[in-house]
Amino acid sequence: SSAGSIQLDQLDLLSRHSFPPCMKKLSEHLRLNHHMRHGGRMQYGLFLKGIGLSLEDSLRYWRDGFSQKTDADKFEKDYSYNIRHNYGVVGKRANYTPYSCIKIIMSNVGPDDAHGCPFRHGDLSHLKQQLLAWNVPVAGLNKVADYVTQGHFQLACGKYFQLTHGVQFDVNINHPNQYFVESQKVFSG
Ligand code: SF4
Repeated sequence: SSAGSIQLDQLDLLSRHSFPPCMKKLSEHLRLNHHMRHGGRMQYGLFLKGIGLSLEDSLRYWRDGFSQKTDADKFEKDYSYNIRHNYGVVGKRANYTPYSCIKIIMSNVGPDDAHGCPFRHGDLSHLKQQLLAWNVPVAGLNKVADYVTQGHFQLACGKYFQLTHGVQFDVNINHPNQYFVESQKVFSG
């Protein structure tokens, strides 16, 4: 999507309906903790850029998200450079691309981190609770869990897509931004 195609005030609704689990989790994490470690800021920040959030809106989003624990000066000093960097306006001015599923699934996730793929990182009982909290019908949970125990994390994600969109979905999920685009297609008809 082009920069600015998604507005800041749409993000809450979009995260509820069209964010894949890895990004939904980060969005909730930021809202609850008012902080996010580097790995999460990279994974989530590049995703938001990819769906079309402008640099200005990104800076506002993260500043607001951090504001209960981090004042504006500290935010500017410690975090804003990185966000500008992701948008390629400082540093090497590279066009950094959002992470693919494989990259996220293979990433190193420590106990205090919120990034990664929820199907890959964390234990199964916690995942099931999380999915129920996200309104996945109980009847579908076992199929998702089967894929997870077989190590088919992206198939588990595709099943989650089906269950939460009420559609037969035969596209393989290989990228969180692709998930988002497919979800938007369902909701815009
Ligand atoms: Fe995100 Fe991909 Fe994992 Fe789905 S399979 S939660 S899109 S990393």
